[in-house]
Amino acid sequence: MEKKIAILGSTGSIGTSTLKIARHLKLEVVALAAKSNIELLEAQAKEFHPKLIAVFDPNKAFELQKRLPHIQVLAGMDGLQSVASFSEANFCMLAMSGSSGLLPAISAIEAGKEIGLANKEILVCAGELISSLAKKKGVQLLPVDSEHSALFQCLKGEKSDSVRRLILTASGGPFREKSMEELKLVTLEHALAHPNWKMGPKVTIDSSTLMNKGLEMIEARWLFDIDPSLIEAVIHPQSRVHSFVEFIDGSMMAQISEPDMLLPIQYALTYPDRKEGLLAPYDFLKNSTLTFFPPDKEKFRCLYLATEAMKAGGSYPCFLNAANEVLVDRFISGKISWLEIGTKLEKLISSHEVQNLLTLEAILEVDGLARKKASEV
Ligand code: NDP
Ligand code: MG
Repeated sequence: MEKKIAILGSTGSIGTSTLKIARHLKLEVVALAAKSNIELLEAQAKEFHPKLIAVFDPNKAFELQKRLPHIQVLAGMDGLQSVASFSEANFCMLAMSGSSGLLPAISAIEAGKEIGLANKEILVCAGELISSLAKKKGVQLLPVDSEHSALFQCLKGEKSDSVRRLILTASGGPFREKSMEELKLVTLEHALAHPNWKMGPKVTIDSSTLMNKGLEMIEARWLFDIDPSLIEAVIHPQSRVHSFVEFIDGSMMAQISEPDMLLPIQYALTYPDRKEGLLAPYDFLKNSTLTFFPPDKEKFRCLYLATEAMKAGGSYPCFLNAANEVLVDRFISGKISWLEIGTKLEKLISSHEVQNLLTLEAILEVDGLARKKASEV
């Protein structure tokens, strides 16, 4: 069936790459949503002619409606949820950043849309709820995160009891070789300069602390319904192997390509088929050395904390995720140092009283509590 796409977060890094693939594959884009960047939304609307747009910021939504009188423009969370469940779409790309994408994600799944999942924080804060809802609605969650797309491709046609381990690769970020002394001095500019990937600010900072890999381990736990004890991370600075699956007979499967999000985005959009892509043929001679190291969980405290939260379960991942979002914001706005993201998070988590997270209300409450505590610590 031809995919008709709604994109939440169309103005971001994943959103604009999704539109590049839509242009390449000539897919119909029926709805767009973003937070406030109406200049880019307007340009996107003029090219792709969506039938519905949502802008989270109500003043900006009002302004965009004036500029695009022939397209319906909605505002706020209700608007995002309308885009997510828009009747003319059959595929919803979840490409917002952070747990604010949770309610639209639920709307899209409730409406039975096929899901392209980039917004990993959704599965970190509400993995059990989202995966059981998707199962109930018969909705496929197609991974867009490169590691998960790799695992998904390696696992195709395999039985879950054949899997021994999932091994996620991590570039190690810009600070892989820095000493503890040097880490005290890192600046925002350093942290935003990722060696291999060009991404939005939140995920780039998470990559520098290795929190991104921790969030991805939790994401993998729910996407592939696998026991946390079977998920590992390895540092692989070249970012060519996007992850491995080890099977019980000892066979390892890996997916390899240039580090470019166009590939996993396109795979989600063409799944279960493959179509001619935009990447040049892979050059082995240019990429002849691939290396692997264990991550340093002392220097990269966030990875350690996320791994522990994944194993402990309950409300820990939700609390960790929301607290991390606030601490990353505080680092970006110059209020705390890079190392304090980890030290403050550790302090917050050690005082968290774990809860069961079976309902949306409980999830939103823990998320809100973590945000409040992380803004004060
Ligand atoms: P960006 O920061 O580049 O883009 C975020 C997008 O979400 C923008 O369109 C932004 O709109 C929108 N947005 C943010 N908050 C809201 C809100 N409250 N309401 C409506 N829209 C909102 O992020 P990325 O594209 O880099 O990342 C998106 C997700 O994909 C993240 O979860 C990230 O971890 C994941 N991911 C990203 C990768 C990458 O290469 N970029 C790789 C793998 C995963 P506006 O522009 O108006 O602010
Ligand atoms: Mg990733």
